[in-house]
Amino acid sequence: ARSKILFPFDNSYARLPDRFFASVYPEAVSGPVLIAFNGALAKKLRLDLDETDAGRLAAIFSGNVLPPGAQPLAMAYAGHQFGNFVPQLGDGRAILLGEVVDADGVRRDIQLKGAGPTPFSRRGDGRAALGPVLREYIVSEAFAALGIPATRALAAVLTGDPVYRETVLPGAVFTRVAASHVRVGTFQYFAARGDHEAVQQLVDYVIARHYPDLEGAEKPALALLQRVAARQAELIARWMGVGFIHGVMNTDNMTISGETIDFGPCAFLDEYDHMKVFSSIDQQGRYAYRNQPGIGQWNMARLAECLLPLLDADEERAVEAANAVLKAFGEQFQAAWIAVFRQKLGLFTEEPGDGELAQTLLAAMQEGRADFTLTFRRLAKLAEAEAAGGETRLAAEASFVEGFAPWQKAEAWLPLWRERLGRQPAGEGAASPAALMRAANPALIPRNHRIEEAIVAATEGDLAPFQRLLEAVSDPYNDRPEFADYTQAPKDEERVLRTFCGT
Ligand code: AMP
Ligand code: MG
Ligand code: MG
Repeated sequence: ARSKILFPFDNSYARLPDRFFASVYPEAVSGPVLIAFNGALAKKLRLDLDETDAGRLAAIFSGNVLPPGAQPLAMAYAGHQFGNFVPQLGDGRAILLGEVVDADGVRRDIQLKGAGPTPFSRRGDGRAALGPVLREYIVSEAFAALGIPATRALAAVLTGDPVYRETVLPGAVFTRVAASHVRVGTFQYFAARGDHEAVQQLVDYVIARHYPDLEGAEKPALALLQRVAARQAELIARWMGVGFIHGVMNTDNMTISGETIDFGPCAFLDEYDHMKVFSSIDQQGRYAYRNQPGIGQWNMARLAECLLPLLDADEERAVEAANAVLKAFGEQFQAAWIAVFRQKLGLFTEEPGDGELAQTLLAAMQEGRADFTLTFRRLAKLAEAEAAGGETRLAAEASFVEGFAPWQKAEAWLPLWRERLGRQPAGEGAASPAALMRAANPALIPRNHRIEEAIVAATEGDLAPFQRLLEAVSDPYNDRPEFADYTQAPKDEERVLRTFCGT
């Protein structure tokens, strides 16, 4: 047996002034049981943990045992929730254990979510239920496998204590890893208090941590704003490309690092509907699929407001600079969106009509209620079959078209696509549309009904569906016959219409 656990902590956030956080210890739980542990990530973080010692891991990742060097704290932040400003939110059920520098030299937060109350808990219990913990685990690892920036899942532990929501549910703690947990709302917290010194300190901190290349910039705050906006524009375009709906794009759920975070009532689209909303609390559709880029821009405007005094000594010029960043966000999003959809369509050259070609397909999908993931994967298959010709090609085309009802617009779109592919260089040495499409159109996303099924089973004590789904989403671009069931769209009776907030 080993006598010490080594987390190579170096806690930079804890070295910031007191008002950035509250020091707080996790509250002990009565019966911690490890249900998931990400050994590969632990290695990458250079944690010296014995993977076979489930009891020890459960003790650590429930918060019952603090690894030496941890400096647990709850971060202070504010945020616009559904458009309304709340001057104090903060980590109400998350406790940052500390930071480690990973094998790639990237500093990462290790945070326990659901580890007990903090000074920011307001009326909450500081706890998390098993279901949302499993959802976040699966979606985090799906994002990692899809290659889309997001926080990661390190561990999940059952606490042995019930949590009281609409019903009594098993409690759990989720261990989250992030490049940092600094959010737009962190800036808002200090800006709302007129604490310009803290805003400046936070600017310096995030530049040093995330964007050290901006350190010598003439106007660091402006350079930071530009960079964050560019990252978020790119990120949201990537979400759109896999049919992802975040669900709660409040400013406290938007990172400065450009990672997807806090996907509570998130969901991936099944049939395409650009107005789709899953979250039970989003009654106005504020965070609907197609609204995401606009909301991203709105959130960047809130960040710009916080930074305004630092953008330029002259107020008018500061406002101009901020507006220029917001305008650029729109352009960056458009460019990133077209780049994403070009790949999805197999286009490795650029033509001005490419955006319209993608939009025409999406319109046919909307009318035909076509499944987002299946449609693009079938199109990738069709691209592969094009060369084979004959029966193979006919079958692939039928499979694509039959996903639409009505199907006429899908069929009418195919010649436009083929014409466009025909204008790309072909032959030896040229890129292959089929290969490009296979790597851009996953076979497998964590579908809502399968997440729900895994949660229901786990709540009844059966973790097998969760484990199998996790394995499936960890390799989304290859066809694996043993996981073919996960590629299927839900039957009507399986359809999940609402997802609930990650409480
Ligand atoms: P979220 O919906 O996870 O982004 O959380 C929004 C805010 O509510 C954050 O300040 C959370 O810390 C807080 N919060 C959510 N659930 C709880 C809970 N069960 N106990 C305490 N605070 C919570
Ligand atoms: Mg403090
Ligand atoms: Mg949040």
